[in-house]
Formats: sequence, C-alpha cells, structure tokens
Amino acid sequence: MRTVYMDHSATTPVDPDVVKEMIPFCQEEYGNPSSVYSLGQKARRAVEKARGQVAGLINASSQEVIFTSGGTEADNQALITYMEANRKQGNHIITSAIEHHAILHTCEYLEKQGYEITILPVNNYGLIEPDVLEKAMKPNTTLVSIMHANNEVGTIQPIKELAAIAHRGGAAFHTDAVQSLGKIPVDVKDMGIDLLSGSSHKFYGPKGVGFLFVKKGIKISSLLHGGGQERRLRAGTENVPGIVGLGKAAELAGSFMQERAEKLNRLGNRLIEGIIKTIPNARLTGHPHNRIPGSVSFCFEFVEGESILLMLDGKGIMASSGSACTSGSLDPSHVLLAMGVPHEVAHGSLRLTMGKDNTDEDVDYVLEVLPPIITKLRKMSPLGK
Ligand code: PLP
Repeated sequence: MRTVYMDHSATTPVDPDVVKEMIPFCQEEYGNPSSVYSLGQKARRAVEKARGQVAGLINASSQEVIFTSGGTEADNQALITYMEANRKQGNHIITSAIEHHAILHTCEYLEKQGYEITILPVNNYGLIEPDVLEKAMKPNTTLVSIMHANNEVGTIQPIKELAAIAHRGGAAFHTDAVQSLGKIPVDVKDMGIDLLSGSSHKFYGPKGVGFLFVKKGIKISSLLHGGGQERRLRAGTENVPGIVGLGKAAELAGSFMQERAEKLNRLGNRLIEGIIKTIPNARLTGHPHNRIPGSVSFCFEFVEGESILLMLDGKGIMASSGSACTSGSLDPSHVLLAMGVPHEVAHGSLRLTMGKDNTDEDVDYVLEVLPPIITKLRKMSPLGK
C-alpha cells in the first residue's frame, strides 16, 4: 500500500545528512564538552559550531542561543525565568488563545504563582489583531508572548508589528517559532524579537533538542539547577549529538528554505483547491494565504476528525486532527474554538501538513481517497447528509 506522511507539524523525519553529522558524536567523538582533554574539546567545538548554525538561521549572534531539550522547555524557560528575573518591572503577561499548551499551561502555572495573565482573542483566521494587543497593554505588562505560526491552522502572525507594540508599552517580546523556523524567514533583529523558542524535530532534526534565543541584554535565568553549562543558563550535560543534528538541520533549512517553500505553497494550494472542489461543506480553517507553506487544515461538517484519521490510516495516509498533543482526547481544539468555529464543526477537523519529500502524486492520492471517506462517514452519521 502507498504510504503518505502528511503530519510534518507533528514531527519530521531526520534528514539523512543530519544523521550523518550526528553519528560520530554518538560513537568515537563521545566526549563531554566540559572535559579539558581533546576528546571533550572536540565535542565543545561541535556544540559551538551548531550554535553558529542556529544563530545563522535567525540572524542572531552565537552568544544569544541557549540549547534546550526542545520547544516545550524553551517556552517554559522564556516565560517563567523572564518573569522571575524581571519581577520588579511588573507581573503581567499577555499571550493569545491559540498558543501551544507549552505556553498556555505555563501561563496557568504562573497565574497560580501570583502573576496576572491576559489571553488575547483571535479573529476568524486565527490572527491576533494588533489593536487588540495595544488595548491590552498595561503599565505592569512585562512580557508579551505570541506564537509566530500556529501548529493547527498554520496562520502566520504579524510578529514585527506585535513586537513593536510590546516594546512601546515597555514590555519584552517572546515568540514561539517552533512551527515557522526553517519554513519561512525569521530575522530576530528585523522583527524586534527578544526571546524565541525553536525545536529541531520540526525541521528535519532530531527530537528532544531545541533552543531559546535570548537577545543580548535580556535578563533570564536557568530553569534547571545544576552545572554551569550554557553560560549558567541551562544546567545539564549538553546533548551533543542532538545539538550537532539541530545545527546541521538549521543550516540545511536556511539553504533550501526558498525552494521548499515554493514547492510546498504550490502543493498546499493544489490540495486546498482540490478539497474545496470535491467535498461539500468543507471549511478551510486558518488564513487563506498567510499560512505556513504546505499546511492544510479543514473542518468537515457532520463528521468526527478521529474517524477521518482512522480511515485515512487504513489507506496509508498519516495526518492529524488538531495538534499532536490533543489528538487522542475528544475535546475539540482550543485553537478552532478560539477562532469561532462552532463546537460541533470543530470536531470534524483535519490537518494535513506537507514536507520537503511530499509530491504531486501524494496530493493526487489524498484527493482520490479523502472525498469517499467523508461521504461514507457522513452517511453513517446521524447528522450527515
Ligand atoms: N510550540 C509549538 C507551536 C509546537 O507546535 C510544539 C510541538 O508540537 C511545541 C511548542 C513543543 O515543542 P517540543 O515538541 O520540541 O517540545
């Protein structure tokens, strides 16, 4: 049976060129970067090379990159330790209703610690309107955290404009760029970003490694207590093979970004147009154009997303309904609800996220398989037509 992987927002396969760079650091180059002898110093140099590669992808300097265990840790560290380190300035954080749970649950934790949280609404496209942020700013606002691109619907936020508003109000600006990095340009200087979270496994690097960009002069601290690694900002022996892999993946993502984005935009538009043409009562979710290349999300009325996934799986197509973390639960996605999608419609959500190796034949196959699945499920549904 043909298999088609269209769940790249959940994770991506590791690029073979990335694996090749990592292997020596699992085998003969196994030193600890903190060791003084040459085996350790080779590992240190590899970590520093990777730091430069990551910095290059976002137009930062190497000293502004701290390696973490992934996007979740970077988000936690950005929010918790920035707020703790800047408590004198204020205790108010602003974020949005469509953030990943790594942000929303961290905000819930901070609220319990006495911080004040404002969660901004989004419009029907999943966009945070700049004047909504402007109105929410208060004298005690210390940090604004808005994701660059959404993991469920792919909408890209006007980060430069939002960061400028945060700064005018005296707050720092964090963005969770886990879904945008390596897919669309990210320039921390041009966009005015103070803190940025990234994760390697979303752009063909290994899982369990990511980074936090911390602009020079921005005060944060280590979330973990232990050794003095990462300039005392992230305790724990560095995940050297993972970091090397992240560095290589960042370099490749930068080199191939434009050509991949052009292809994925074309494939994404074909898939969107094909679905709209062949499936009645299909609602595209997210912004019609301002979305991550190759990211396609729909709600199909009168069906359950989970049932679509199971039937697609039966045909070798891997996709998701809402985010990877919420699939498995029967609650509709908080992102779709925040965008004003009615509860019953949000249950029928499907996310198809393409990557560098998807082809026109993959799109054709989905367009051949998906419409009869929806028809069949609708016939079985008491609400169906
Ligand atoms: N933020 C966003 C927007 C995500 O999509 C994800 C993963 O799905 C994360 C954070 C968490 O990243 P990680 O899996 O590296 O912990």
